[in-house]
Amino acid sequence: MNVAPKLGPDFALENADAKDLGELKAQAEHCTRCDLYKYATQLVFGEGPATAEIVLVGEQPGDKEDLAGKPFVGPAGLLLDRCLEEAGVDRSRCYVTNAVKHFKFEQRGKRRLHSKPNAGEIQRCAWWLGAELEILQPKLVVALGATALYSLLGPKVKLTPERGHVLRLANHPPVLVTIHPSYLLRIRHEDDALANRKKFVLDLEQAAAFQST
Ligand code: SF4
Repeated sequence: MNVAPKLGPDFALENADAKDLGELKAQAEHCTRCDLYKYATQLVFGEGPATAEIVLVGEQPGDKEDLAGKPFVGPAGLLLDRCLEEAGVDRSRCYVTNAVKHFKFEQRGKRRLHSKPNAGEIQRCAWWLGAELEILQPKLVVALGATALYSLLGPKVKLTPERGHVLRLANHPPVLVTIHPSYLLRIRHEDDALANRKKFVLDLEQAAAFQST
């Protein structure tokens, strides 16, 4: 199948050429579209059933994901799993991926600190995200945070005003806009953390309607 990524306007102008997700991942293993592959341990591609109705898109792999080679296996991923369950979304039937497929970090002694991908890196990697969505044809894409939203819909759509909305655009699967679960882990005040977690679960409850029973 010739997969022409439609998402990330102007980001991905060429065509990926893969018949399924396995072949696409194999191609991404050799990606040199930006410099991040040089420093990360390995590619962290999306995972989940090919029949997934919902695709969840995060920012980039973290330290644990980079070492494991799997998306959303760190603390934010575990929190996401619990919130999805509370929201009534069957996580096992979702496909999870990131806007950027290699870990970007700053080395501080022995520690590798998360570093935000820049616009160019997000744009380069939107090629792969677009191709994943083109193959999966999901009923809903959940943008977890600003980087995912930028990758999916470009710079004009902002997280704060669209938070909690399902955006329906022509030639595009609907996009539910919400925060990245790592945001919840950074809130120090317990009451704030609980209130924000509740709001996140409410956002995710909208996704449950896109899964067939
Ligand atoms: S981050 Fe994305 S675009 Fe950059 S090298 Fe990795 S797979 Fe390629």
